This record gives sequence, structure tokens and C-alpha cells, in this order.
Amino acid sequence: MPDAPDFRFDNSYARDLAGFFVRQAAAQVPGPQLLLFNRALAERLGIGWRGVSDAVLAALFSGNQVPEGADPVALVYAGHQFGGFTPRLGDGRALLLGEVVAPDGQRFDVQLKGSGPTPFSRGGDGKSALGPVLREYLVSEAMHRLGVPTTRALAAVATGEYVYRDGAGVPGAVLTRVASSHLRVGTFQYFAARGDGEKLAQLLRYAITRHYPAAAGVEPALRFFRAVLAAQARLVARWMSIGFIHGVMNTDNTSIAGETIDYGPCAFLDRYHPGQVFSSIDTGGRYAFGNQPLIAHWNLARLAETLIGLVGPDEQQAIAELTAELDRFPAVYEAEWLSLMRAKLGLSGEEAGDGALVRDLHAAMARGEADFTLTFRFLSIVVRGDDASFLALFNGEPSVPDWLAQYRARIGREAGEPEMRATAMDRINPLYIPRNHLVDAAISAAEGQGDLAPLVALAGVLDQPFTEQAGKDGYAAPLAGHDRRFRTFCGT
Ligand code: AMP
Ligand code: MG
Repeated sequence: MPDAPDFRFDNSYARDLAGFFVRQAAAQVPGPQLLLFNRALAERLGIGWRGVSDAVLAALFSGNQVPEGADPVALVYAGHQFGGFTPRLGDGRALLLGEVVAPDGQRFDVQLKGSGPTPFSRGGDGKSALGPVLREYLVSEAMHRLGVPTTRALAAVATGEYVYRDGAGVPGAVLTRVASSHLRVGTFQYFAARGDGEKLAQLLRYAITRHYPAAAGVEPALRFFRAVLAAQARLVARWMSIGFIHGVMNTDNTSIAGETIDYGPCAFLDRYHPGQVFSSIDTGGRYAFGNQPLIAHWNLARLAETLIGLVGPDEQQAIAELTAELDRFPAVYEAEWLSLMRAKLGLSGEEAGDGALVRDLHAAMARGEADFTLTFRFLSIVVRGDDASFLALFNGEPSVPDWLAQYRARIGREAGEPEMRATAMDRINPLYIPRNHLVDAAISAAEGQGDLAPLVALAGVLDQPFTEQAGKDGYAAPLAGHDRRFRTFCGT
């Protein structure tokens, strides 16, 4: 029986990017206890975990024991948070353990989050509370199952100590997060703000090699920017297609690889409203649901600014070229979004009026306070010939029958057998999402009574979000009466 898993680390960041991090050991914790371990992900990463005891996994994924080949570092980065720039943020409560190259050749960061203070903690405790750790584990894995590019969760370990949040002691935990990398717009901003062109150039080369090798060669900075822009457009279109609100789209939370990262005050829409905000700290509504594409565009502008000196020697020309790329974002995003929306409506062809059809549906959803997820899911029942359950979602909104007539006319102009269309729709429109009230109840049970069963049960349902599961109706239903005041507070 192996006494430790074999990660086979290959740490390119720590090896090649001196000046981009500081070496830092994790804090020791008094009572590590393995709560969740993602065996399927461990398998996918090629980590030899079989036969390793829970106690050893808990020691490793709490930071108490350094796995062989790991080289724990805290990364530097800057960031615009809610519009204001901080030139030096960095990993204040996270450590990159190292990089794992999966059997398929893909490289992943393995990071501990909540592993103690670092030189970037800025007065924070460097720790994570159990609630947010469980939330990130649950929601990031659900997002993966929903087909959204995202960081993943490998393990959640309770530390056996309390951390203090808003004056109260709450159980502490460490999350092990897996990402294509932790490069972010804020990493570029850090070196740009310091005027360090050499390090910026080095960072660009590294990012291109790791994520966008096709951008190497001629005009690498410009083509890199184009690739990041496309990845962000794809990502945010995915969010908008499933009603996901990130909640803290700061530039330090904007991944160069185009993954969803940092599940703080995130939430899913229940009743659709474009102005919906969930995060208690987002008082201005900057990161409201409907604003997310605009914010992605804004964040990309911040990335573009850092690349000016790397595009070419003529600053005016570099700015013009980057601006031309940046200006493409609305069209690139719209194309991604519309193609997802067509699939959600079961449309295989394209007609000029499709955008208006989709927007009219959103407008009716907003007026009728319809549940976002069920609206799309129940559209396949319409295709199968029964309007009742779809109509019932709209609280009598008078425009819906007209919309349905247009929709029927639209699909009538396409070939395709209804059951085939409906089946395809059910493969893109989830029935189960991590509904806020379910996530909160599962986390409360774990925090309050140490009962993980509700969370494990919820995670089990969310493993197959597109497949109707017998006896699981309660997981698909919105909270009765809808809680209008729902807010997520557990950002940290
Ligand atoms: P986040 O809100 O998780 O994106 O974090 C924003 C910044 O605050 C990052 O630099 C984090 O490392 C830092 N930070 C968040 N929570 C803590 C904490 N409890 N202790 C130290 N730094 C933290
Ligand atoms: Mg962050």
C-alpha cells in the first residue's frame, strides 16, 4: 500500500518564472480531516491515489505534509477590484503546490486555498472558512458537469481549527483547486504597473506556450490577445446560457485560460432578471447578471493595456491594433451567445430573426418572473406537444402565447422530428443546477451539524444535470415563493 500519492509534479512556473512568486510553506493545522476527495478528477490527472489512507490525503490536502515533488509558492498578481486598481494583491491565502501533467499531456495547477498566511496576506489570516470551501467544491464541479470551463475541486479538508469571520468563529477548511493555470489578467497588470517590460515579455511567452501555442510566431501579443478574448467570450456566453452570476469579476479573477475561477459570492438565477445581483458586497450592481458581458469586455481592455509595449515599437500603432481587436468583443460574444441560445431553443439552422426571438423570450421571462432554468428545460415539453408546464412558469405574462406561436412557426421552418429536437434540447438545457437554497441548506448542515449527507446527495444529483432522475423533483424546483432577498455573503 503506497503511503503517499504519486503526483509526478513538473513545476514550470516555479522553475522558469523567478520573480513571479515567493516560496512559502503552508501553515500546520491541528486536526485535518478529509471531507471530500474527487476520485474521478484524481484519476483524470493521473495521480496515483489508490490505497492511500484518508489520513494521509488529509495531511497532504491540508498542507500539513508536502507531497513529493511539490514546490509550494504564492503567486504575485495585481487586480482591479470593483473597478479600483490594487497594484499588488497576490496569493494571500493560497499556495500553488505544483503542476501535474495528466496522462493526456494536459498540464494542471494544483493549489491549496486557505493554507495560511503569505507575504501577500495584507492583514488577512490566510485561511478559508468551511462554508466557502464547500460552496466552491460543489459549484465548480457542478459547472464542469454543465459544460462550463472551470477550475475543479480535488479535495476539501477540515482543519480542526476555527477561523474568525465578522467576529464569529467558524470551522476552517482547505480546498485543493485544480486549474489549467492561475495566470490571470491581474498577473499581466502586476508587471505592467511596475513598468517591467522584460518580465511582461517573459510572461507572455509562458502564457502562449502553456495556453495558446498557436499564437507563437508572428504578432504573438496580438494573436494571444485575440485568443484570450475568444476564450472569455465563450466562457461568459456559457454563464449567460445557464443563468450563472459570478459575482466578483475582478481582473484578478479573470483567467487567461478562460476558466471560471474564484467561486465567492456566485449564484444561479432563479427568476430571470437581467439586473439580478446576489453578492452582498456588490452594492452598485457592477457584476449584475446582465452586465457580465460588458464587464468581460472591460477586463479585456485592462489586459490590452498591459500588452501595448509587446505588440510593437510604435505605441500609437500598437494601441490602434489592440483597440481593433478589443472592439471585436461584442460581435464575438454575440455569436457565441446566439449559437448557444439557438441550441437551447432546439434550432439547428440560422435565421436573421433568431436574436430577436431569443431576446423576446428573455423579456417575457423578466416580466413574468419565470424561472430561468425551467423555462429552457420545459421548452422541450412544448416541442413534444404540451405547452402547459411552460406557460405555468410565467405567472400569466400575456405575451407568452404569442411568443410560443412565433417559436412554433420558427421550428416549423426547419426539418427535424420533434422527439429528436426535444432530446437534443434536453442535452443542453439542464434540469438540475446548484440552486441557492439547496446549496445553502447543504452547507448549513455541514457547518452546523457536521452532516455532509445533504451535500453529498446534492452533488450526486448535480453529477448528471441533464438527466431526469427518479425521486429528485425537489432538486429541480425553485424555492417556493422565491426569496427575493437572497444574498450570498460567503465571499471569503
Ligand atoms: P478573492 O476575493 O478570493 O479573489 O481574493 C482577493 C485577494 O484577497 C487575493 O489577493 C486573496 O489572496 C486575498 N484574500 C482573500 N481572503 C484572504 C484571507 N482570508 N487572508 C489573506 N488574504 C486573503
Ligand atoms: Mg481571487
